[in-house]
Amino acid sequence: MFASIQGKVAVVTGASRGIGKGIAEVLAEHGARVAVMARSRDAAQACADALVAAGGQARGYAADVGDRTSMDAAARAVAQDHGGIDIVCANAGIFPSASLEEIDGPAWDLVLNTNARGALYTVQACLPWLKQAEAGRVILTSSITGPVTGYPGWAHYAASKAAQLGFMRTAALELARHGITINAVLPGNVLTEGLNEMGADYLEQMTRSVPLRRLGSVRDIGWATLFLASREAGFITGQTLVVDGGQTLPESVAAL
Ligand code: NAP
Repeated sequence: MFASIQGKVAVVTGASRGIGKGIAEVLAEHGARVAVMARSRDAAQACADALVAAGGQARGYAADVGDRTSMDAAARAVAQDHGGIDIVCANAGIFPSASLEEIDGPAWDLVLNTNARGALYTVQACLPWLKQAEAGRVILTSSITGPVTGYPGWAHYAASKAAQLGFMRTAALELARHGITINAVLPGNVLTEGLNEMGADYLEQMTRSVPLRRLGSVRDIGWATLFLASREAGFITGQTLVVDGGQTLPESVAAL
């Protein structure tokens, strides 16, 4: 399935762990040459090494998505190493919890700069090579939180994830001229190292709120991303794909 990914060069930001690692795994298993990015070069390379050990092609790169110079340098290095960039998965993100009273300017800026501005910088840095690609693809990892739902403690995070979608819809129009598509995957609660740290009570309560009665896996998000990265998804742009096990469907607890 999705053999069109074979040999494509795929940048995945925030791929040293969590959802990004799941995306990198699925793309590598389908023959993509994966550029694993994270601020920690060692962690990015460790993930790339694991992908290579499993039979894939991958290399680690240090990149901070909130820093345009850093992203430009990383994109240039990928293009030099692999001859171009075909697929960009703007996945890196942070989700510190803070109440409305606690969110000050620096806290707001950190989340918006990483999650929303980071998506912009990731696309901008890779754009020279995406334009040359046969069928350029951008996939954003947004969230149900913000675009669809709310959750106390994440007002700044929710704003950043909704901002990604506003960015995407206008970017889709500008990128279409170059034959590039841009879409967003909106995960529900996905079992990552980060989510694990929220504790057993949180995980149990979240699982109960999902009609399919399990949390998402990082590979669930990887599969959705793979589809949007494929040639088969070439007529889809500016769209969102919710991957949440039905979590956003019930009108009330009685409907669960
Ligand atoms: P995670 O496990 O905390 O991993 C975050 C990744 O991003 C790491 O590789 C981290 O590596 C990297 N990163 C953090 N800040 C960065 C920066 N400034 N520049 C470059 N890389 C950076 O996170 P996750 O749960 O997998 O979340 C990944 C994405 O999915 C985020 O956009 C998040 O909003 C979204 N999401 C997650 C869930 C969920 O349930 N987990 C649900 C909905 C949406 P370094 O620290 O080395 O940079």
